[in-house]
Amino acid sequence: MSNDIYCDEILNGLLPVKKVIETERVLAFYHTRPKFEAHIVVIPKKHIPSLIEYDEQRRKF
Ligand SMILES: [Zn+2]
Repeated sequence: MSNDIYCDEILNGLLPVKKVIETERVLAFYHTRPKFEAHIVVIPKKHIPSLIEYDEQRRKF
């Protein structure tokens, strides 16, 4: 468990979402509680704890 809703519930299918598009590395879906007329969330399919650590982790992909 990574303790974030995106990896633990959405990517695992525990919280169903309406997908916009899904690729090998990215999932885009309609927000379950939209705050805007068009509210789409785009997430990486690999857990990335923070953007600060992202540059270091990217080299390992
Ligand atoms: Zn995550």
